[in-house]
Amino acid sequence: MPVARKTEEEWKKSLAPEPFHILREKGTEQAFTGKHLDNKKKGMYTCAGCGSALFSSDSKFNSGTGWPSFYQPAAGDSVTTKPDASQLMKRTEVLCSKCGGHLGHVFDDGPAPTGKRYCINSLALGFKEKKETVKKKP
Ligand code: FE
Repeated sequence: MPVARKTEEEWKKSLAPEPFHILREKGTEQAFTGKHLDNKKKGMYTCAGCGSALFSSDSKFNSGTGWPSFYQPAAGDSVTTKPDASQLMKRTEVLCSKCGGHLGHVFDDGPAPTGKRYCINSLALGFKEKKETVKKKP
């Protein structure tokens, strides 16, 4: 059971309209509009709803689809998947395991080593940059 459950009314108050639409109403942002699409920095992509760590930059790749794409979640239980038959398509929905927010979909045409393509809305994601620690000389 996800731990970060809020009522839809509480989500509406705590999120901006666009992320609310994606996360809570299963919306999809327009392709090539997301702020994380071309982000090449090292770090962790987090849930825009609850802050949970979802995808490492290490698994990000350019899918050409217009949405940030990853070949695996940050941890085995970061995200949950669920069959989605909406819009006359058979797809697999990807949700944040912690808050149940809709993130995007996963497809089987991704690159090695997993063959998976997690197609995720930028609006469903935050980003925490990993600052390289500079080793001081003794
Ligand atoms: Fe979440």
